[in-house]
Amino acid sequence: MLILTIIVLVILMFFGYAFLPSNINKQRFFRRTKKNTNVIYLTFDDGPSEYTEELLKLLKQYKVRASFFCVANFAKEHKSIIEMMKQEGHLIALHSLKHKNAMLQGIRETKRDLETSLEIMRELGILVHYYRPPWGDSNWYLLQTLKQKQIQCVLWDVMVQDWEAHTTPEIIANKLLARVKPR
Ligand SMILES: [Zn+2]
Repeated sequence: MLILTIIVLVILMFFGYAFLPSNINKQRFFRRTKKNTNVIYLTFDDGPSEYTEELLKLLKQYKVRASFFCVANFAKEHKSIIEMMKQEGHLIALHSLKHKNAMLQGIRETKRDLETSLEIMRELGILVHYYRPPWGDSNWYLLQTLKQKQIQCVLWDVMVQDWEAHTTPEIIANKLLARVKPR
């Protein structure tokens, strides 16, 4: 009986702390983005990595500015790439400290993750205005803290699996064109 009670309590805690806030946040985001005009914002997550420089060259060639949601620990390791992003006028935003799922982080871990990443970004000369949680998953504490710090939580409407090993530029472009819609 005791074990069952504990299991039920843990499930309820997870539901109230992570599952519910995370999903409400997603619903709100998708409702909000419907009001947008016909603009496509290209956003790239999980870098900087060994591919980012090549991507920056392409963006420069086509005169496109994008948004980079950086993992703070990777940003620290690729300072020159961060400088390139700045010089070329891209938006640099945050994608957590080391890409952990916030639904599986308690308050203390979430706090440390966010504070350390903001500190790293500050040292790189970046004031963070936008945050994209890994996998779009958040928790109650993270969402409250972002709100307090006036950092906007940004998710996405369209995903084109450009990270897949066997994809090609044509597949990516076709997916993108098929999935974007007016407004
Ligand atoms: Zn990610």
